[in-house]
Amino acid sequence: MRRIEGFVGGAAAKATSGRKGEVFNPNTGEVQAEVGFASAADVDAAVQAAVRAQPAWAAVNPQRRARVMFEFKRLVEANMNPLAELLSSEHGKVVADSRGDVQRGLEVIEFACGIPHALKGEYTEGAGPGIDVYSMRQPLGVGAGITPFNFPAMIPMWMFGVAIAVGNTFVLKPSEKDPSVPVRLAELFMEAGAAAGIDVAGVLNVVHGDKTAVDAILHHPDIRAISFVGSSDIAHYIYRTGAEHGKRVQAMGGAKNHGVVLPDADMDQTVKDLIGAAYGSAGERCMALPVVVPVGKRTADELRERLVAEIDTLKVGVSTDAQAQYGPVVTAAHRQRVKDYIQMGVDEGAELVVDGREFSLQGYEGGYFIGPSLFDGVKPGMKTYHEEIFGPVLQIVRADTVEEAVALPSSHQYGNGVAIFTRNGRAAREFASKVNVGMVGINVPIPVPVAYHTFGGWKRSAFGDTNQHGMEGVKFWTKVKTVTARWPETDGAGGAADASFVIPTMR
Ligand code: NAD
Repeated sequence: MRRIEGFVGGAAAKATSGRKGEVFNPNTGEVQAEVGFASAADVDAAVQAAVRAQPAWAAVNPQRRARVMFEFKRLVEANMNPLAELLSSEHGKVVADSRGDVQRGLEVIEFACGIPHALKGEYTEGAGPGIDVYSMRQPLGVGAGITPFNFPAMIPMWMFGVAIAVGNTFVLKPSEKDPSVPVRLAELFMEAGAAAGIDVAGVLNVVHGDKTAVDAILHHPDIRAISFVGSSDIAHYIYRTGAEHGKRVQAMGGAKNHGVVLPDADMDQTVKDLIGAAYGSAGERCMALPVVVPVGKRTADELRERLVAEIDTLKVGVSTDAQAQYGPVVTAAHRQRVKDYIQMGVDEGAELVVDGREFSLQGYEGGYFIGPSLFDGVKPGMKTYHEEIFGPVLQIVRADTVEEAVALPSSHQYGNGVAIFTRNGRAAREFASKVNVGMVGINVPIPVPVAYHTFGGWKRSAFGDTNQHGMEGVKFWTKVKTVTARWPETDGAGGAADASFVIPTMR
């Protein structure tokens, strides 16, 4: 049985806890590898490697750190196909989608290649007589990232790309469900250092595991900041516990993104956009679009008819099938959870228009496949509307007016992403301005911001006040030091100034 281990201090590191997890092949349902779970002592060893490496790494000038990032970008690009195939084999998303996963992470590395510019501080000449004030951004020390199963390449790179480029060292605890790609990234980062002529051993470390490893990170005195992405209850726990232990924490949670469809929308395009965003990656995206809100009966009826027709053409297949639009979900337990939600929707009184529960792929009967499902008549009071399903399930919630439609995402517990489909610029502008959600798409179904902007939801979709990547990421992973310097014009010639007992002001 293949065994997946951590990566610490520039080399493979075996977990010593004796505990392990199973890594499945979601296409077949077979266990394809086991992953060693880190004990608290293993986490400590990774943190100590990061502590040791940090001063030297922070002392490398920003331009040379950027050169390591350039080399890393080159190596990840050169390994794009094997990385994407490895990712698909553990996650189940189709290979083209896995390439997108790697690519979106790489775009943050591209941002990190420009880190010298982003790290320039502020300077005020002559803030007072002979006084200049300047500020600088310094790394925090050791940072940690805890990541979910659904983007095993992109989300680790969101975090360590920026954290490392600004001069921190890093301990990553990826999802135990698809742990291989993060290790491969750490190996490539070592190669990147060698190519740039800089020893980066200990700069990027990986430990695997579950709550035991996460709790060791949360309690570790040498970890200064924690970035988390996963489900909301765990995100809240990470935020509370990390803060209690004096750490800076950003914790992104779950989502239930709505697509509001106005009667004037380009219906051909909207239907295609909705289908891709609802069912792509089997709905296992925090920026999926699992709720559609058509405004008015005519829009709703037309949309439903077209969605049903489009669903009919969808091809679900193994992750290596280039014709398949989506593959299996990640585990049998997750498939059961999605099926349970579908039954709950039926029990709550929603109309199950298309039922994907019985789907099975010939020759792959053991795989974790689930067909596309569509609900109509979903109401705001229903549990299946309130909660995140995270599967290939699209729910139609009908609204009579635009106001009613806009109020739905605004009052939902989650506030990650939202989209509006319309030809009316004024309505779209008003929507973008007023909706109580962190990321908005206007005729864009999955509005994941580009790397040099910043990613983050509102309400129960994110705890903490700083987003991922872009300048928000730079802020999160650095602390500001502000220097006030006085260089008197007269070199003590006029005698020393009197002691002052009042707070200095600039009057
Ligand atoms: P998850 O919360 O189960 O796991 C996330 C991480 O937390 C993993 O590394 C896991 O090992 C760890 N973990 C799990 N249980 C824990 C516990 N009890 N204590 C401490 N740590 C624990 O999430 P998942 O199933 O891997 O990912 C799917 C979720 O992530 C969805 O809710 C999705 O919306 C969310 N997500 C959010 C974003 C975002 O940016 N907002 C992006 C991607 C995914």
